[in-house]
Amino acid sequence: MSSVEQIKERLNIEEVVGSYLKLERAGNNLKARCPFHNEKTPSFFVSPERGSYYCFGCGAKGDIFTFVQEFEGIDFLGALKILAEKAGVTLENFSPKSNDTKERLYKLLENATFFLQKTLDSEEIPLSYLKKRGLTDETIKNWKIGYVRDEWRSISDYLKTKSFTDEEIERAGITKTEGKNTYDRFRGRVMFPISDSAGRVIAYSGRILHDDGQSAKYLNSPQTELFDKSKTLYGYDKAKQSIRKFDFSILVEGQMDLLMAHQAGFTNAVASSGTALTIEHLKLLQRISNRIIMSFDSDNAGAKAAERGWALALSAGMDVKIAEIPKGYDPADLILKDKEQFKNVIKNSISLIDFLLNRAEGETTDKKKLWEIIKNKILPYIYLLDSNTERSRYVKKISDLIKIKEDFIWDDLKKVKLDEEFQNKNETTENKAIEKEINDDTLKKGSVERSLASIIVKKENSKIDTSKIRGNIKDIFGEKKYLQFEEEIKNKISELTFEAEGYYDKLDDNLLSKEAEYLILSLREDYFKKELEKLLSSLKEAEKDKATEIIGSISIRLKEIMQKISEIKKEKNNFYKR
Ligand SMILES: [Zn+2]
Repeated sequence: MSSVEQIKERLNIEEVVGSYLKLERAGNNLKARCPFHNEKTPSFFVSPERGSYYCFGCGAKGDIFTFVQEFEGIDFLGALKILAEKAGVTLENFSPKSNDTKERLYKLLENATFFLQKTLDSEEIPLSYLKKRGLTDETIKNWKIGYVRDEWRSISDYLKTKSFTDEEIERAGITKTEGKNTYDRFRGRVMFPISDSAGRVIAYSGRILHDDGQSAKYLNSPQTELFDKSKTLYGYDKAKQSIRKFDFSILVEGQMDLLMAHQAGFTNAVASSGTALTIEHLKLLQRISNRIIMSFDSDNAGAKAAERGWALALSAGMDVKIAEIPKGYDPADLILKDKEQFKNVIKNSISLIDFLLNRAEGETTDKKKLWEIIKNKILPYIYLLDSNTERSRYVKKISDLIKIKEDFIWDDLKKVKLDEEFQNKNETTENKAIEKEINDDTLKKGSVERSLASIIVKKENSKIDTSKIRGNIKDIFGEKKYLQFEEEIKNKISELTFEAEGYYDKLDDNLLSKEAEYLILSLREDYFKKELEKLLSSLKEAEKDKATEIIGSISIRLKEIMQKISEIKKEKNNFYKR
């Protein structure tokens, strides 16, 4: 039995998805708020029976493997690794093709990380540096921290002894080539491995050991096939369980902040590690918990970047709190000095808008100036809030604070102009839904055609003959459109099965056939109505051209169709009275 089959046998979708989301019973299925698009009411359904899921909102669908892939933002092998651990299946027999380049790169970085750890073990100075910053032996080991000597090719030379090629070493982001020279990017640095959400090393962040005043203090791996910095958060692989457990995440900036936070028990912390926060980063967190505490150093040089991150999180609909680190400290220093003090900072974190209002109040006591600050700097954030109740709460607060009418504030709130990137909130998911709608030629959501398709699928799943229904539909559609209809049923089989369960679960087969008959009447009526419309417009044209012969034949057909429509109407009226 293959690893995939073993995993599928040992894990059911209910426990896998249930370990990420809170599931509620819904008949034979389970439902939850969809982790892949922003929504308030659940439209994400899981079928334990079929081992699949489907979202009516955004169309996400699949099995345990695709779920973990999408949720964790990793590839199939990464999902396999996570699920194998959960199932207690060893992947020893799973040997990917030796020429699988990505798999080779993972191996390469595993080797490099081992080498860097070994080097650190034998070096006094970097080790004492880490200890001085407060890291314990256990943390150093758990986070696989290493060191690279200040030499041109120490990592690459080691990797060559492990039979990795020059090309592979460069592709993994270890070396770079300038002219004819190829050399290691990282030299004389303490090395922090960055992992993907399955815990595989994909990159490094290296901190210089002896500051020469020229080299960057921190250096990150470049973008590679494995590493996309806009989608990777430092510590995410280790933090995700705790984020789920505590139902909030803590965002800090640097590696040291993160390591110290974890060491002090804040295991739900992640770090942006020197890259600008992106919506992808936030989505990783939001899928697990909508609540985020962002730490903020008050003497932060990158305040602008921090503020951009706040707006981004609000625009994603997250519940954002700010934890303000006392002046002169960063989280790492503060924890080193006094763990309790950091704990209080987190405990006393306040919602972003309150934080901004407090800060503005600290800047001036002049009400007029204060209103200017609020109008220009705070209203845009209030505008980004997800709920109107929240918005009203702050409008009232501001009105009390500067003694102006709420209406006045609402007027300015309506005039807020946002930077382009925050403009259409959640635009991407909505667009996806719209795009999908357009592609649905025959089986539009909520259409008669779609209901009929669900009934066909339901009957077929119970092995009941559907040739009569199909015959009727073919009769109405004609050959070409009918084939398209069948094709679409095949493509949408899983979602139609879910729909059939949702709408027709309580109907026995007799009632189901009756429902189908009624729908076919409606379908026929729709088609006659469409034809009627066309005829009426041709009639107008013909009248303009005074084409008497054509007018005559159109009129005959019109009469026929009107007759048919009225017959169908009558039949529909009496249908459920029979
Ligand atoms: Zn969805």
